[in-house]
Amino acid sequence: MLGRRDVLLGTASLAATSIVGGIPLVRAAGINDQDLLKFFDTLALMRTTQSDPGPRPGKVRKWTKPVIVRSRGADAAAYRDTMKDLVEETSDLTGLHFKYASGKRTSDNVITVYFVSEAEMKQIYGPESRSVCFTHTRGRAGELRHGRIRLRKGFEDCLHHEFMHALGFDNHWPGPKSGVNASSSLAHRHSAERTQGYSEWDKLAIRMLYHPRLQPGSPRSRALSDAAEIVSEIAYA
Ligand SMILES: [Zn+2]
Repeated sequence: MLGRRDVLLGTASLAATSIVGGIPLVRAAGINDQDLLKFFDTLALMRTTQSDPGPRPGKVRKWTKPVIVRSRGADAAAYRDTMKDLVEETSDLTGLHFKYASGKRTSDNVITVYFVSEAEMKQIYGPESRSVCFTHTRGRAGELRHGRIRLRKGFEDCLHHEFMHALGFDNHWPGPKSGVNASSSLAHRHSAERTQGYSEWDKLAIRMLYHPRLQPGSPRSRALSDAAEIVSEIAYA
């Protein structure tokens, strides 16, 4: 499972790439084991739902079969290329085949992204609702089967944020109060840590979640010890 490829560059410099689960994993020099574990734990193993007062320990939730991604709504065609890029990048990071198929009728292993107007959002969530983007996922024993993302017009910059929720990250990144200096698409929309695409930290967290050693449905305690092993295998760039 674990291989190491050492590449000699010039006379003295040495670059190492870990191959974990078939996917090369490297990280920037500033990202250490402890910080990365905390980042991963916060986003993938803690959950905040609308009814929760605060994050609570969760279980590993991930897709296990190839996923069809489709988009709906009056503006969907305008985001075709954006969606294709996102799906391709997500396939690379997860090692799982995500396929963009605009007209595909399917019921299982599918994520549907709805591009909706403010009026449509209020129809769905009520006239007082301030919802702008929302993701709902469901599955069985930690294996995700359905995802539904709604993106309100004007908030398309939330696409990666919502897609990370759809991949099984059920929490948000609290920023500096966590004690870890990390950027994330799951940080608050108006914070300095927020990125529009996947941050370097997000990419590592996605690769960790989709590492074969992390079993869907694993409780947080077990998943944390598995994640610690995976982290120690990730080489520095
Ligand atoms: Zn969110």
